[in-house]
Amino acid sequence: SADPRMIFEADDVAVHFGGVKAVDGLTFGLPEGKIIGILGPNGSGKSTLVGAITRHVPLTRGTLKFLGKDYAGDEPHLVPHRGIARTFQTVRLLEERNVLENVLLGTDSLTAGGRAARRLGQERAEQAMARTGCDHLAKVRPDELSYGNRRRVEIARAIAMEPKLLLLDEPTAGMGRAEKEEISTLMLSLRAEGLTQLIVEHDVQMMVDTCDSLLAMNFGKLIVEGEPREVVRNPAVQEAYLGK
Ligand code: ADP
Ligand code: MG
Repeated sequence: SADPRMIFEADDVAVHFGGVKAVDGLTFGLPEGKIIGILGPNGSGKSTLVGAITRHVPLTRGTLKFLGKDYAGDEPHLVPHRGIARTFQTVRLLEERNVLENVLLGTDSLTAGGRAARRLGQERAEQAMARTGCDHLAKVRPDELSYGNRRRVEIARAIAMEPKLLLLDEPTAGMGRAEKEEISTLMLSLRAEGLTQLIVEHDVQMMVDTCDSLLAMNFGKLIVEGEPREVVRNPAVQEAYLGK
């Protein structure tokens, strides 16, 4: 069968912070409808790569294409309009707004006023909250939530945008086994609907169970790429990531 098309392509992407080469010449694609995982030790450039894709960090060089269009010059607030949504390694919510309002922000930012648009936004927000298991928390403020529930709200906000590409930076940090499995199940159900997902995650077993392919990074470079089990078994990955 034909290879799936690439929904996203990075060519020689680099992000240097002064002398720190956080991302140092990455070339790869994200096949449409797949879950791709990024593995790598702390400081290897995973979050910087996510920030480069969402244009939150400036590129030192390279090109970024989404659906065939070069968008490297976009301001970060334009990126969601292209269909790219993300969550952050450190959850970012408006603490003075309740859960529903936070999730609505995902849809509001994309739709121009009007009552019909608002009703549609409300429906999408409620659906996203139900899918991530935070619908019963609609009226609660984020600072009253557990860590896991704060993550659920952030994921709900991203899903409510109905993106074509979802980037998740350590979405299960601070979660226990059962909660992790819920996130895994959610990702697989989003994949069944055709959503392309890129996830940064340290739990190797979860990555093998959930991802279609893995990218392994070290020192800002892509060291191995491919089928999850093979990537995890690769000696360079074992040495860099697993300390073996
Ligand atoms: P990871 O997510 O894999 O743990 P990061 O992308 O957060 O790695 O960081 C990669 C490297 O870039 C680290 O050395 C980090 O200290 C550095 N770095 C990340 N963000 C910045 C920044 N805004 N300014 C300076 N250095 C940064
Ligand atoms: Mg990180």
